[in-house]
Amino acid sequence: MTTLRKVVIANRGEIALRVLRACRELGIGTVAVHSTADRQQTHVLLADESVCIGPPPSSASYLNMPAIISAAEVTDANAIHPGYGFLAENADFAEGVEQSGFVFIGPKPETIRAMGDKISAKETMKRLGLPCVPGSDRAMGRDPGQNLALARDIGFPVMIKAAHGGGGRGMRVVHQESALEDAISLTRQESDAAFGDATVYMEKYLAGPRHIEFQVLADHHGNVIHLGERDCSMQRRHQKIIEESPAPGITTQQRDEIGQICVEACREIEYRGAGTLEFLYENGGFYFIEMNTRIQVEHPVTEMITGIDLVRTQLLIADGEALPWQQKDITLRGHAIECRLNAEDPEKFIPAPGTVTRWHPPGGPGVRVDSHLYSGYTVPPYYDSLIAKLITHAETRDLALARMRSALSEVVVDGIHTNVPLLQDLCDDSRFVDGAIEIHYLEKRLGL
Ligand code: ADP
Repeated sequence: MTTLRKVVIANRGEIALRVLRACRELGIGTVAVHSTADRQQTHVLLADESVCIGPPPSSASYLNMPAIISAAEVTDANAIHPGYGFLAENADFAEGVEQSGFVFIGPKPETIRAMGDKISAKETMKRLGLPCVPGSDRAMGRDPGQNLALARDIGFPVMIKAAHGGGGRGMRVVHQESALEDAISLTRQESDAAFGDATVYMEKYLAGPRHIEFQVLADHHGNVIHLGERDCSMQRRHQKIIEESPAPGITTQQRDEIGQICVEACREIEYRGAGTLEFLYENGGFYFIEMNTRIQVEHPVTEMITGIDLVRTQLLIADGEALPWQQKDITLRGHAIECRLNAEDPEKFIPAPGTVTRWHPPGGPGVRVDSHLYSGYTVPPYYDSLIAKLITHAETRDLALARMRSALSEVVVDGIHTNVPLLQDLCDDSRFVDGAIEIHYLEKRLGL
């Protein structure tokens, strides 16, 4: 390490612990910044230093930019890792971090800004040769006649999407002409309230696509590679629950072709760091929907099959090192599956915070658990309900699934409700076992 000496981990939960571990392996000092509700988080207890940055609501703590930057100043840290969620894709934050003289572990602020606006991201990627979901190609105007003409042109059903949306929010499907204007104004309002921006655009609503995304890595020296794809089609309310890599049924030729287009696009926009290009996949075609300019929750499945530590690589890139691999060095070995364990009611999906009286994680060959839980830990009610990620890796998909079933049967989380029963059901679901389910499958199965 030449530059990175001490990193502020501007996140919480499993990803904060994941970043802490990567820093430690590289001999980098760690500073945990946390809310008053998170004093007992594993990574806070393990970090070299910790700074309380505010009260429980994330708006006052994990989204409090001045407090996080001050924490870097008072601890004499020289870099900030944003994890995922919170400020990870906030260009103003990245800019503030850099202007204060710290290294932002992620892409350039202008890249985050350009990709954070989904309209400009689609426009850029389309120009660079990526196939996109047919749509308005620009922000929707206020003229109902023009909007209707556009929707007719694209063909119903259409989807109205917030240009700055994220986390599966700010999207509305419109099946008929009479519902169009209401849907546009509702999505505008929601988007304004949630993301501070009322810009919306229109896309063809695909009836039964799969969600397939490509992982990329890029350094400061113009080297870009892709690490294959992940299938994240098992979703509820546009939120992923199970992810896997490789995507069932995707051929080497398809992977090479789309992967290469992603690599070239990233080189063109001078991307740096880890990133993900998300696509919907239908009838053999890939359609770009957005790019995530950060590490993703589901990154471990890619790590398992490539043997590459993505968080460590983020740190090396931020330190100015060149990627140690070329595309030809990347080989995919076996199959990996990730299940997200949430503190929630398995049937009603309402969050179930509380104290974990007993935590017993599974183990054995090919089983990885990324979690900040411990017996006696209290899951606070203020944040995301993700409590653990269970990842299995094996030579074949069948074996990875068998390992997942076995691992799930070993999990003990006493004291709170979790979605383990749902995950167990899904791992036994014959359609999922066969592979290649579409994004609406889970909701249909749940009768939603
Ligand atoms: P977010 O940034 O909120 O994650 P995305 O644009 O990535 O939003 O979309 C999230 C999910 O919403 C996708 O994985 C897919 O399930 C669904 N979705 C998005 N666009 C479309 C579309 N045009 N047709 C059908 N489903 C879509």
